[in-house]
Order: sequence, then structure tokens, then C-alpha cells
Amino acid sequence: MSRYHFFDFSLEDLGDFLVEQGEKRFRATQLYKWVYGHKVQDFSQMTDISKSFREKLPDLFDFSLPPVVSDRTSVDGTRKFLFDVGDGDTIEAVLIPSPGRLTLCLSTQVGCNMACKFCFTGKMKMKRRLKAHEIVGQFLQADRLLGSDQRISNIVYMGMGEPLDNPENVLTSIQIFNTTIGIGLSRKRITVSTSGLVDRIPLITESGARLAVSLNGVNDEVRSQVMPINNKWNIKELLDACVEHCRITKDKVTFEYVLLKGVTDSIEDARQLYKITRRVPCKINIIPFNEHPGSGFSRPSDSQVVRFQEELMKLGAHVLLRRTKGRDIYAACGQLTSAHKEHPQTMPVQ
Ligand code: SF4
Repeated sequence: MSRYHFFDFSLEDLGDFLVEQGEKRFRATQLYKWVYGHKVQDFSQMTDISKSFREKLPDLFDFSLPPVVSDRTSVDGTRKFLFDVGDGDTIEAVLIPSPGRLTLCLSTQVGCNMACKFCFTGKMKMKRRLKAHEIVGQFLQADRLLGSDQRISNIVYMGMGEPLDNPENVLTSIQIFNTTIGIGLSRKRITVSTSGLVDRIPLITESGARLAVSLNGVNDEVRSQVMPINNKWNIKELLDACVEHCRITKDKVTFEYVLLKGVTDSIEDARQLYKITRRVPCKINIIPFNEHPGSGFSRPSDSQVVRFQEELMKLGAHVLLRRTKGRDIYAACGQLTSAHKEHPQTMPVQ
């Protein structure tokens, strides 16, 4: 009999499955508490579960996690994990410390079909979508490797892959992260970032997670050049969907805006950015481009980045300059890849 991955089951689905197996539904709650709450996978320690059921567990469930191929820490404390997901494929997840929070950036696919021009992952066609257990597995492995005084406080789906191109597994993983008797992470601490799959944004709205949108262009001409998805759903359609998300959730959207020298970083771009986004309750994260081999783009000067930020602030935008983290280990935004044998893993820090 083939085994099922335990980390693929939301609490409700696990209850349904156990009932199908002739077990009581409450066993699902017991298992969730042990595995996610107490972090115990040794069945003999699950003392409130009958011995006969405990004996069945190894035949029913596979509790394996994606093996860690490498674990590198940047000079700034950012930590990048490379996981083996089988068939010679690897994916990356990044742990980002900042005052008062420890954020884990998760991958959802091997490669990505969105082909955003500034992104290393976008150079690889999508090979496959990750299963929920592989998404949850990144969290559990990172959590296992943390010191006892550290705890992941936030999750962002901003690693390899477009999360809304793998909605079923992403939504299941959100349910698993959010289940109170398990990991118990508030939905408000979970952010899903999309390149703009407009028709699927309502799925994020329904999930209760926060929405981030990778914008990276202030008109359709530039955005289509940088992000081909814009040819399918243009800026107006994307911003309309954001307005609707905010209306329903009362949340703000985070717009991610990569500053590419000579392409998206002029003062006029800053003014346009304010103009097109001001109808959306939002904050804007500006991200100076993180260079990587063969990208064809350059990073603007620090002074241009500051001017861009100041212009937005002057206009009244809620704007944050995303400090680049983990550049020396290629862990920064847009630098993740699975082709670890074919590209360098470290770069000199200026
Ligand atoms: S930025 Fe995100 S959606 Fe775009 S190619 Fe990279 S991984 Fe895919």
C-alpha cells in the first residue's frame, strides 16, 4: 500500500481521510497536536493515542522532509537553504531576520513560467509545482535548524515560482501554517506575492493571507517589457483586483517595485507610481535591483534610490526601501534558482 505524505493534509482533510480509514475524526486533532504542536514524530511518545492506531501510522503516512543540500548564512544574518526535492531538482528558501521578526521566504515551484526579466528563477521554465508537503517541509526543516531561542514569525511566498500558478498546494499550506493547534501562525503573518494572475487574486482574498503584488512598471509598455504577464492582465486590471481585495479584507496591499537603472528608476517613474497606486490602500516596497549573472539590468546608484524614495514620500506615499539582504549568498530578491551547480553560490560584498 502506498503511503500518504502527512504534510499534505489540512486538519479537515486529515479528519476525512482517517474516517475513510475507519478511525475516529478526533485522531486528526491528536496527530496535529503531536506533530506540529509538540514537534514529535516518534509515535511511541504519542501517549494519548491508542497503541493499535500508533502501530498503523508508519504504514499510513510518510513524514519525510526535503533533505537540506546546503545551509549558508550571509554576513548580514540572512540564511539560505537549498533543498533536494527529488529527480535532481533543488529549491531555495530564505530566512530573513529583522528587528522583532524572523521571516521565511518560501518557494512554490521548481522554476517559473512567468519569465520576469529581472528574476533569476524566471530564466528556468517551470519544471513542476511543489506539493503542499514540500512547501510545509521547507518551513519544518528551517524551524528544526533554528536555535531554541528563535522562532519563525512570518511567512512570505516570494521564493521560486508564482504562488498563484500552484494555488491548490499553496492554499493547503496556508491552512496548515494557520491551524491553531498546530503551527498556529496568524493569517496576517502570511503574505502571498503574485506577479499579477488577476483572476486568482480572489483566492488570496478568501484565504485571509496578505497580498503583495510585484508591480515593477508604471505603464503597460514598461511593465510588459519587464513582466510578460502584463500582456495578459494589464496594470488597470491588476489594480482593479487589488482595490477589490482591499475592499473585502480591509487590508493594505504591498506593491513590490524593483528599481532597474534607466528602466524603472526615474523621478518621473516615482511620480507615475504614486499616481497609479494612490487609489489602492497600499504600501510600496522599493527594491534596488539585485544583480546576477546575465541579467542585462543594472542596479541604480544609492543616491538615485534615495531620490526615488524621497519623491514618493514627498507625494505622501507609504514607502519602504527594502534593504537588500543576503546578496553575498545570492539569497536576495530575484536571485533564487535551483541550478546550484551552474551558478555561483557566493559573491563578494562591496
Ligand atoms: S519574479 Fe516570481 S513570478 Fe516572476 S519569474 Fe521570478 S519567481 Fe516567477
